[in-house]
Amino acid sequence: ELHNQIQETKGNIRVFCRCRPLNKEEILAANATVVDFDVAKNGDLGILTSSSTKKIFKFDRVYTPKDDQVDVFADASPMVISVLDGYNVCIFAYGQTGTGKTFTMEGTVQNRGVNYRTLEQLFEISKERSETFTYNISVSVLEVYNEQIRDLLATSPASKKLEIKQSFEGSHHVPGIVEAKVDSIKEVWNVLQAGSNARSVGSNNVNEHSSRSHCMLCITVKAKNLINGECTKSKLWLVDLAGSERLAKTDVQGERLKEAQNINRSLSALGDVIYALATKSSHIPYRNSKLTHLLQDSLGGDSKTLMFVQISPSEQDLSETLSSLNFATRVR
Ligand code: ADP
Ligand code: MG
Repeated sequence: ELHNQIQETKGNIRVFCRCRPLNKEEILAANATVVDFDVAKNGDLGILTSSSTKKIFKFDRVYTPKDDQVDVFADASPMVISVLDGYNVCIFAYGQTGTGKTFTMEGTVQNRGVNYRTLEQLFEISKERSETFTYNISVSVLEVYNEQIRDLLATSPASKKLEIKQSFEGSHHVPGIVEAKVDSIKEVWNVLQAGSNARSVGSNNVNEHSSRSHCMLCITVKAKNLINGECTKSKLWLVDLAGSERLAKTDVQGERLKEAQNINRSLSALGDVIYALATKSSHIPYRNSKLTHLLQDSLGGDSKTLMFVQISPSEQDLSETLSSLNFATRVR
């Protein structure tokens, strides 16, 4: 009920902030925590920018290191359900590398994240509604690296460069990508694993590579109302973004420089699009990056957007934390 109230009084963009726990190294190094969770209950987050100053940031929800995957999904779930009602939805995780983007979206086998829980819920609810609706669910898994789209479910390398096309009724798609039809959560796990494995092919450091590319899961839901025959098609994007950190100038040369520029460009483009939507600008610059162009149908209009801003509690990461929180504040 509370969720619906928020829904009515605000636009279609929600911003949730999640802070990971201090890790072993940070505890050993006795790093101080700069995050004040006492105000978290109201959706506020306090950041100690010095020993005497606290800056307050406002969010729709704040998760402390004590909140688990179930707590997080409980708040994301109404958006997921709206996909079955025909809405396009986009959920993404933004933040510095190591702050828990992949943990939130993918999770682990013991601690499943938003991706798996989303599909689990889609199957559950479609089963509950099976007397009135038939649903057809398919998934695609893409990676955007250096402004190039790679199909992580393709069994052989694409013969042509993958491009985004607009169909005559206005929706965007990538001709030639694999759309795997899935009928059960078991099948989904196999598909997600295949996508995840393909990500590491051709890179010598899997973690480094994944922090410099956007990993994008697209779930397409086709619904047919058995009573009136009405059909809808909706799309849900689940995105684990590239790390938002700025690299030290001395580290950035050659291939790394190109990567850094592409990440910077696409994350700025995402910020610009959401900002333009939030301020009801007449021009929404979707075409400035592959990322925003791909997400176009699920950002704006009557679609729903949820952003997780992931942060570290450690004083060592303060400047990146402030930069992520500022990014999130701008779009909210
Ligand atoms: P990112 O994808 O942003 O680079 P990861 O998801 O890989 O970050 O997280 C970095 C490490 O921190 C991983 O070992 C992950 O399991 C752990 N971690 C992140 N968030 C949490 C959390 N909320 N609770 C427990 N561990 C977490
Ligand atoms: Mg990651």
